[in-house]
Amino acid sequence: MGRLFLITLEGNIYSCKHCQTHFGLSEDILSKSFHCKHGKAYLFDKVVNVTFGDKEERMMMTGMHIVVDIFCVGCGSIVGWKYEAAHEKSQKYKEGKFILERFKILGPDGSHYMDQEAQIGGSDPDDA
Ligand SMILES: [Zn+2]
Repeated sequence: MGRLFLITLEGNIYSCKHCQTHFGLSEDILSKSFHCKHGKAYLFDKVVNVTFGDKEERMMMTGMHIVVDIFCVGCGSIVGWKYEAAHEKSQKYKEGKFILERFKILGPDGSHYMDQEAQIGGSDPDDA
């Protein structure tokens, strides 16, 4: 295997929830309003420390896209996908951009993703 050369980011970092490998910065998020089958997903302008799967055509809510799955270089877990091409003109802005599934990554404060239902009535203390 050899030693992995990981890029270290500074700032508000999103990272792998399994191995804390850095993926992206909050300033690189283009949209937080994406959804995947597991819940929320974020559209990133760029991500680091990922490897790519095979290209495939995938039908999504917004039409047919050519995508590649992306995997964490640290632990190999799938963390999202990259849009290689979009058929619909209105979706072209996503080409070359990355989706990270929110529940697979840690936020800048190290928090795990919890959906809104889990947060309501949760026992976490306020940051006071
Ligand atoms: Zn990982």
